Amino acid sequence: EEVADLRLELDGIKVKPSDAPRPVTKWAQMGLLQQTMDVFNQLNYTKPTSIQSQAIPIAESGLDMIGIAKTGSGKTLAFGIPIIRHILDQRALKGGDGPIVLILAPTRELSVQIVNELKPFLKASNLKIACAYGGAPISDQIATIKRGGLHVLCATPGRLIDLMQSNSGRVLSLKRITYVVLDEADRMFDMGFEPQVMKIMASTRPDRQTVLFSATFPKNMAALAKKVLNNPCEVIIGGRS
Ligand code: ADP
Ligand code: MG
Repeated sequence: EEVADLRLELDGIKVKPSDAPRPVTKWAQMGLLQQTMDVFNQLNYTKPTSIQSQAIPIAESGLDMIGIAKTGSGKTLAFGIPIIRHILDQRALKGGDGPIVLILAPTRELSVQIVNELKPFLKASNLKIACAYGGAPISDQIATIKRGGLHVLCATPGRLIDLMQSNSGRVLSLKRITYVVLDEADRMFDMGFEPQVMKIMASTRPDRQTVLFSATFPKNMAALAKKVLNNPCEVIIGGRS
């Protein structure tokens, strides 16, 4: 009940199932790394937005989730902050090379925005991110991937498939990917990227964590979500559209 009240207070957060990890209203309650807190202080981001207050505890606990909140509500950090601990936890376990986190976004502009927003947070933990999109030479992107040491790759679906097929699959492997983000999923769907998204997902580990974020959650997208997410928590801010 207390949790339900808190969610209501926070801009009408709706969550399924009701026993999902509870929302937190302060960064300090999230048990984040000091270097992450330092970046929040530098940027003067004094507290989490509604989607962040509910999505970060869910994603940090390793669960799949769907997060629906309008444009400008802070979805990038809602999926971006949990990436940090996810990678730091994985790194102790495995050697080898290749990204651990994959973020799919519908357009070049959006993938650049995501990278710019996440970079200071990742840099503070010595983690590397790069982006790959169409309309730019693939050779530069191949060179970046081949240089190695990349933890996060943010890509548009079409270019990612080109990269996966490049040099008979020797440039990019998704084998180490254990956290996948589908950002602006409604737009990816509208732009007809569903076949590419399904192909990419089939190339990642079945035991990956998958999170989907979108401004809207149209009915036809629910079918895609069902195929790629494993028993996801559903978080909706300010009504379903
Ligand atoms: P969305 O993906 O939901 O459209 P963004 O993640 O792009 O929204 O965030 C919108 C803006 O809000 C960005 O400029 C971002 O830097 C800023 N922002 C994100 N989280 C916070 C926060 N907790 N406090 C203040 N500003 C924030
Ligand atoms: Mg966004």
